Amino acid sequence: MFQYKRIAVKVGSNVLTRRDGRLDITRMSAIVDQIAELHRHGLKTVLVSSGAVASGRGEINVGKKLDTVSARQLYSAVGQAKLINRYYELFREQGITCGQVLTTKENFSSRKHYLNQKHCMEIMLENKVIPIVNENDTISVAELMFTDNDELSGLIAAMMKMDVLIILSDVDGIYDGDPELPGSSIIREVGKEHDLSRCVQSAKSSFGRGGMLTKCHIARKVADEGIAVIIANGRRNDILLDLLKKGSAVPHTRFKPSDRPASSLKKWIAHSEGFARGEIHINSGAVEALKCPKATSILMVGVVRIAGDFEKDDIVRIMNDSGEQIGVGCAAYGRSEAERLIGMRDVKPLIHYDYLYLF
Ligand code: GLU
Repeated sequence: MFQYKRIAVKVGSNVLTRRDGRLDITRMSAIVDQIAELHRHGLKTVLVSSGAVASGRGEINVGKKLDTVSARQLYSAVGQAKLINRYYELFREQGITCGQVLTTKENFSSRKHYLNQKHCMEIMLENKVIPIVNENDTISVAELMFTDNDELSGLIAAMMKMDVLIILSDVDGIYDGDPELPGSSIIREVGKEHDLSRCVQSAKSSFGRGGMLTKCHIARKVADEGIAVIIANGRRNDILLDLLKKGSAVPHTRFKPSDRPASSLKKWIAHSEGFARGEIHINSGAVEALKCPKATSILMVGVVRIAGDFEKDDIVRIMNDSGEQIGVGCAAYGRSEAERLIGMRDVKPLIHYDYLYLF
């Protein structure tokens, strides 16, 4: 009946909160009912839910004006407890157990933490427990923060090898023009060749951090990794059930998954880009060599310059001869050793093909 077996669902703050910023329990309950239905049909679901900060905001009246960081920490500490409590009760009414997974960007930068997280969620799914994931907003501040939960949901979908990531927000999908204008319609399917830059509204949602631009960026990246991504309106009744039926007529935008997905190690490297510590500049010959379909590593002979300080096994950016970033990889040498070997032949590659992700 349903076309996928493993799904990640991301629900934005705008779906879960009412105009006054308080939690919309009716909407939460409708989403839980749908996930429960999918669960009963044997689908494995991970829910990435925003709404901690928004629900905490409605809960406490602060005396003096708080700075942004303090407010986020305070509201999320209170709001996440409230949010997960609601989910717990709603799932329990359906005879289903859910569990909370709070994470931070840093947990994705170390392979060990990454695998620990993955293991935790796999064991939950195996035991029919629905993982409900959110960023640990109490300790993720400033540069330690994810761009938004769209980014987090992309990482989770890739990590858990889901078949599809469904991003629910308060719009029906991506329009080919201004959604306010009558001539605009929803783009049903986005392929690799599709240029969306002119269609995407940059307006952010009022309660969450994400906007359509980040959603598209994340959707592209996740689809390149072989996972279908659907952007749809979480306020429509039975949206999840409708979307997952074959030939669904409900409005949505679907990003076509690549038929040549990367290995899970490469996926992790791709997503670790934000933690890169150095830059490897390569010459035009090396850039050309990387373009050929044969698996090619980054050899010391093609390296012209190294910037930044990094150690063996750190993530580094790969730059072409015009100074543009063309990929990311895991360095086999630390900076000083790599610098000593620049231009040399017959030494171990600086980045082995298996540890290389090209854009
Ligand atoms: N983690 C935030 C929360 O639960 C939401 C981040 C976002 O809006 O994407 O409140």
